[in-house]
Amino acid sequence: MLDLPFFNDEQRSYARELDVNVGNHLWPDPETIDDGQALLTALKTLGKADVLKHAVSDPWSLRANVLIREVLAYHSGIADLAYIMQALGGVPITIAGTDDQKQSILPGAASGDFCLAFAITEPGAGSDLTRLSMPAEKDGEGYVLNGVKHLVSNVGVATHYTLFARTGDGNRGLTAFILPADSEGLSFEKQTPTAPHPLGRMVFEDVKLPSSARLGEEGGGMKIALATLGRMRTTVAAAANGMARRALDEALLHCKSRELFGSTLAEQPIAQGILAEMRARLDASRLLTYRAAWLFDKGDEKIPLEAGVAKWQSTENAQWIIDKALQLAGGKGTLRGSIFERLYREIRPLRIYEGASEIQQLVVARAMLE
Ligand SMILES: Cc1cc2nc3c(=O)[nH]c(=O)nc-3n(C[C@H](O)[C@H](O)[C@H](O)COP(=O)(O)OP(=O)(O)OC[C@H]3O[C@@H](n4cnc5c(N)ncnc54)[C@H](O)[C@@H]3O)c2cc1C
Repeated sequence: MLDLPFFNDEQRSYARELDVNVGNHLWPDPETIDDGQALLTALKTLGKADVLKHAVSDPWSLRANVLIREVLAYHSGIADLAYIMQALGGVPITIAGTDDQKQSILPGAASGDFCLAFAITEPGAGSDLTRLSMPAEKDGEGYVLNGVKHLVSNVGVATHYTLFARTGDGNRGLTAFILPADSEGLSFEKQTPTAPHPLGRMVFEDVKLPSSARLGEEGGGMKIALATLGRMRTTVAAAANGMARRALDEALLHCKSRELFGSTLAEQPIAQGILAEMRARLDASRLLTYRAAWLFDKGDEKIPLEAGVAKWQSTENAQWIIDKALQLAGGKGTLRGSIFERLYREIRPLRIYEGASEIQQLVVARAMLE
């Protein structure tokens, strides 16, 4: 697929080299050690290897991010997460930050010395961002924050959060901030996802932020959030494709070696049909993802239809492919420690976060109808 015209030679050789290096590295396993420790160790490795710079670079290449996520997700879910959270937390700063804000955060994010996070979801507001209600009230020159964010990745290990809170009503009432993790009045509560990674609630009790912590103009938060999520959407598709590609490779290996009914599983026609459909769905997903990335890098910043189709189809297809791979692996595939079982848990949230499949359907339909 790398030989297709979506990429240039530099990107092709970078992706190939990265695949070898990431595949040869022994990544920390959040199933067996503390998930926060695993994430921070992976982050340091990616910083040292100069990979994180692509997450927070300006200009920002969607093709680079898509290639990196597909490779990381193929080999290690925690490495993929460590990488993309720097982008999710850092891209709002590249989009709207002052020179001082960029200078104080982005080099540390690229080296892995800082760990970033993106806090927007609230118990009462997820898919529908217009329902966000956590207030950031004016307090002299600064702001005071009270309320709760939840389901925030990197809670407890992040050094800085890109935070969205309400300074007024309506879409022009949301404002973005850079929040240091050690802010007084801020506490964290762990939540446990299907596949382990640091995730949790943030509780704000009179947390004070100076006006210099504001990202962009007051009321500009919705625009920053949507621009960031718009870029991330295609990278979620890429991560799903990486997981699905791993599942297919593992399923092929298994089917070729498993003997039953006088032949191998790979020689059974129904198994072949399933393997063929896995490949067809994976190819379709990757082509949709690369198309969106290529269009973005060409200068079409607004690609709701292409990014929406890529995220929706790639995550749904990946779930299907991984489920079929586990089915072919049989009972052993369901056991803790099996690659199939791990992928099965890792893929599930991707159909929900950063715009659930149903939201992508709406985005795609609206873009067509316009
Ligand atoms: C592992 C994980 C990590 C996360 N990390 C972060 C993070 O780092 N930062 C952060 O801010 N948030 C994060 N989230 C939260 C995530 O972004 C939200 O879960 C997501 O936006 C959905 O919001 P919700 O959970 O409130 O579901 P709801 O908005 O209540 O939606 C529930 C379901 O309803 C369906 N639905 C929604 N709208 C429609 C519609 N119009 N028509 C039909 N069906 C619809 C969808 O199936 C959806 O899944 C994370 C979530 C998970 C699971």
